Amino acid sequence: MKYRKFRNSQDDISLLGMGCMRLPVLRDGRGIDYVQAGEIIDYAYENGINYFDTAYYYHGGESERFIGQALKKYPRNTFYLADKMPGYALKKEGEMERIFDEQLERCQVDFFDFYLCHDVRESSFDKYVNFNVIPFLKKKQKEGFIKRLGFSSHGKPDTLKKTLDLNDWDFVQIQLNYFDWSYQDAKRQYEMITERGMPVTVMEPVRGGRLANLCPEANDVLKSAKPDKSIASWAIRFAASLPGVLTVLSGMSTMEQIIDNIDTMDHFEPITPDEQLILDKAVEILKAQTLVPCTACRYCVSECPAGLDIPRLIAMYNDYSVSKKSFGLADIFELPDDKKPDKCLACGLCTGNCPQNIDIPDVMKKLADEVAKL
Ligand code: SF4
Ligand code: SF4
Repeated sequence: MKYRKFRNSQDDISLLGMGCMRLPVLRDGRGIDYVQAGEIIDYAYENGINYFDTAYYYHGGESERFIGQALKKYPRNTFYLADKMPGYALKKEGEMERIFDEQLERCQVDFFDFYLCHDVRESSFDKYVNFNVIPFLKKKQKEGFIKRLGFSSHGKPDTLKKTLDLNDWDFVQIQLNYFDWSYQDAKRQYEMITERGMPVTVMEPVRGGRLANLCPEANDVLKSAKPDKSIASWAIRFAASLPGVLTVLSGMSTMEQIIDNIDTMDHFEPITPDEQLILDKAVEILKAQTLVPCTACRYCVSECPAGLDIPRLIAMYNDYSVSKKSFGLADIFELPDDKKPDKCLACGLCTGNCPQNIDIPDVMKKLADEVAKL
């Protein structure tokens, strides 16, 4: 494992961090599979990962409980735990104290090493300001409940700048990967943060898994260059190659993924200029083929009055779009009628929550039209 120092401290942070947003779940859908997920956390810890990132709403709140239990057996000073205040969901200022106390209790810790204002962007910025979230968290920091205070952002560069101006942050978390480097202005955002001397923690380095398995043409480009390396390893190496990155948070769901990612980091070598040209070629192919850039973050799902599994439907649409074969839509026929895309009410409630700014009702309509043709 490779480590990077947190600013001028003595803290060595593993360059690969464990995101606890996509832990393995039970087949019956009744929450996290504690056995499998526990094995993943143990493997991570034993192989040098010391940064674990959770949030109040990950896995409906179960992620915090799970990671608290999974890390309890390890000395508190051997890992760094990051959690987040869901300011975007606050109804009133007074809720923060209860949420923060609940997080400490769920995670079974006395303090958080890293703590973030969660998902500050255009639709949530005013809540963070009007509900005085930052003064509240700075007070918690002064009292010793938070060691380092940062924020995560899915916003556009202008909102990122406004948020950077709000406070002297310790670190910032952004979505960064070789596809979004140009596609979603990640390069500009990275530069805005690092110019201020702040380290970047990276989320979505593999873009919700999409950069672990590209379309056949793009896969071929990467496989021809490095036949014995996984497609995902390119994505992990790209993010980790940036000197301003403190840790690359991968939301690993299987043992296979964590073994591969740790192998990548154990033999880490920065992306060379020649390899960057290869990545650029793969990105061009992807851009031509990627129709809906969904990362399966599921921020849109809770607002949907029709109860649609939006990311799942979008994944089917993308499969279909790339293959142009009906098997990409086969799963749709397994869905109950009231969960099919034609049940979208076009209310638009989901779009405001989408970090990728996807026009979800439009995708639902196109998907429904394709299904109707079959
Ligand atoms: S626009 Fe469609 S998918 Fe989005 S919240 Fe409304 S019903 Fe759900
Ligand atoms: S549509 Fe947007 S909000 Fe919904 S899962 Fe995909 S990226 Fe996330």
